[in-house]
Amino acid sequence: MMQSTVEDLRVRLKNAADFLFQKSLVRGIEGNISARVPELGAMLIKPTGLPMNKIPPEDYVLVKLDGTIIEGSKPPSKETPMHLEVYRRRPEVNAIVHTHSKMATVFAIVGKPVRAVWMKAAVYGLYEVPVLPFLRSGSVEMGVEVAKALEGRRAVLLQNHGSVSVGKTIEEACNVALALEETAEMQFLASLIGPPRFITLDEMEIIKKTGE
Ligand SMILES: [Zn+2]
Repeated sequence: MMQSTVEDLRVRLKNAADFLFQKSLVRGIEGNISARVPELGAMLIKPTGLPMNKIPPEDYVLVKLDGTIIEGSKPPSKETPMHLEVYRRRPEVNAIVHTHSKMATVFAIVGKPVRAVWMKAAVYGLYEVPVLPFLRSGSVEMGVEVAKALEGRRAVLLQNHGSVSVGKTIEEACNVALALEETAEMQFLASLIGPPRFITLDEMEIIKKTGE
């Protein structure tokens, strides 16, 4: 039973990674993805150095939340410390997606939050996606700061770097990453015509109840 859950997660991670690649949210060997394995107190994470669309399910590395590698023929993603820190500090998070997707990263470069400018942002709870100060890739500190900023949120931007999206499932984390990228693009385009009007918290609640 336990084994089948891990195997199921491996296949879902592969499908999610393919989705991120197909939607152009990741390019080359950029980005990483992981899923919590609750019954083992562990996570499955992308191996380092491989493009997202070229990772077979068995290549995902099984890492205990204390950092011990349980199973894996390749080294885990360089952002492993960040993923571990988020799972340790955010029990509600079961999956993490990190990308350098273009439009969200543009906001991270300028240091402007992505905000709820359209229905889809509201559906995915993206009221205001803050930009964290510059943090060193692969550092524990990045994980600590990301985990803190994820209080009541599903995504954060990393200054001059990219974004982190989370979910209760792998599929949800991927959909949040896509919604974030599309929202950034909408906000950018709208700003060319005039100052965008942002959806209010009250309106967010109504949209969450009724859907898109
Ligand atoms: Zn990165």
